[in-house]
Amino acid sequence: MSRVVVSKFGGSSMKDHEAMLRSAKISLEQKSDITLVSATYGTTDKLHLLIENAVNGDWNACEKILFTIREHHFDILNNLTKNTLAGEQVRELINNLETLIRGIFLLGECSNKAKDRVVSFGERVSSILFAEAMKITCPDRSIQLFDSRTILKTDSTYGKAKPNIELIRKNCLAFFKFDARNSYIGQGYIGSDNEESTTTLGRGGSDYSAALFAEGVRAHVLEIWTDVAGIATTDPRICSSAKPIHEISYDEASEMAQYGAKILHPTTLVPAMRENIPVYVGSSYASKEKGTWIKSKVESKPKIRAIAKRSNQALLTIRTPKMFNAYGFMGKIFEVFTKYEISVDCVTTSEISVAITVDEATLKNEHFLHELQNIGEVVTEIGHTLISLIGNQMLETSGLAKRIFDSIGEVNVRMLCLGASPYNFNLLVNEKDGDATVIKLHKEFIG
Ligand code: ASP
Ligand code: MG
Repeated sequence: MSRVVVSKFGGSSMKDHEAMLRSAKISLEQKSDITLVSATYGTTDKLHLLIENAVNGDWNACEKILFTIREHHFDILNNLTKNTLAGEQVRELINNLETLIRGIFLLGECSNKAKDRVVSFGERVSSILFAEAMKITCPDRSIQLFDSRTILKTDSTYGKAKPNIELIRKNCLAFFKFDARNSYIGQGYIGSDNEESTTTLGRGGSDYSAALFAEGVRAHVLEIWTDVAGIATTDPRICSSAKPIHEISYDEASEMAQYGAKILHPTTLVPAMRENIPVYVGSSYASKEKGTWIKSKVESKPKIRAIAKRSNQALLTIRTPKMFNAYGFMGKIFEVFTKYEISVDCVTTSEISVAITVDEATLKNEHFLHELQNIGEVVTEIGHTLISLIGNQMLETSGLAKRIFDSIGEVNVRMLCLGASPYNFNLLVNEKDGDATVIKLHKEFIG
C-alpha cells in the first residue's frame, strides 16, 4: 500500500474562499488521502449562540444569526463556483438548521442530543464548500465527499462522545479505497451513535477526529493544519522570544497539550500514539514555513523544551483528621472525580489533606463539591495559574529546582508537582504572577 496521509484543516483554514483554496492546494501538494475540515471560523460559536437564543425565546436574535450564517456560506460558495448542486445542498442544510432552531424556539428547551445535531451543521456545510475548492484546485482528482458520521461511531455521550475504536477501524477498512486519484473529504468533530443520532467529540474535537481516522486507516502521517507554524516553546503572545519547535516527542507534546498549549486538542495524540503515527502541525497560511513534528523518537532531548501555562485554575484542599493513619480516603476522593468525569491535574498530599488543581469552571458543579464535602472539609482557592516546564530527564537533573526557584525570584509558589513523570515540573502560582513567571523561566532555560 502506498503512503496514506490524513490531514485536518481547522476553522481559520476554512475562514473564507481564499483560505479554502489555499488549504485545498496544500491537501493536493501533500497528496492527502483523507482531508477533514472544521466549521468555518467562528461558526460553531454562532451555532451555540443560536441555540441559546432559541431556548431564551429570542426569535429576532435567531433570525439575525441565521442570516449571517447563510450569507457567509453563500458568499464563500459564490466566490468559489457556480455549481448549482453544491448551492442546493448548502441551501437545504441551512433550511434544515432553521427548522430545527424553530423547534427549539417553540419548545423553549434543547437536549444535548439536539445540540449536537445543531452544531454539526458547521462542519457539514464547510465540507461541501471545501469539496468545491478541491474540485477547482485538483481537476484531475476524484473528490469524494463523505459523511464522517457513517464511519466515526461513538457512544451516546452527546457533547463529548467517546469513540468506538474497533467499529471505526472496521468502517474505515470497508469504506476507503486508496489510490492516487481519490481524495476523500469529510467533517471533523462529528460522529454518530448506535441509533445513528449525531454526536460530537467536544469543542475543538476536529483534531481528535482526524487522529481517529488516521488510526482507523493506519495512516503513515497525520497532518494538522492551523493558523500558526507549529508548536512554540511558549505562547508568543506572552513571551516575544518564543521559538518554534521543529521536533517533539509524543510524551512531551501530550504534557504540553494537557497543560495549556492551545495548539492541539489534548486527546489528539492518543490514537496517533497507539498506532505510532507521526503528527505534523503546520500553518495553512505559510505552508512552506517549517512546522512541528510530533513522534515517538526524536533526535534532540533538551532538559527543558517548552513552558506551558494554564490559567483559571482552582485549588481544592480536602482535609479530614480521619485520614490520619487510615487508608481509603484518596480512593473516595477520586471516586467522586470519576463519577463527575472531572480530570485530576496536579495532586499533592499530606497526612490529613489532599490538594488538587481543577479548572475554575469545575466549581460551578455544586453536586460534585457537595459530595467532596461529605468526605472532608473542602477549602477552595481560585485565581491561580499552572505553569509547566516540559522537557526530559527532569527527575535526574540535579540543580534543576535551584535554577527554577532562582529565576522566578520572589514569586510565591502555592503548590509544586514533580515526580510522576520525567517530562514535567509544575508550579501553581497566583494568576497575577503567571505571565512574568513564564517569561523568567523561558529566559533562564530557553533564552
Ligand atoms: N468546530 C468545532 C469547534 O469549533 C470543532 C473544531 O474546530 O475542532 O469546536
Ligand atoms: Mg481547532
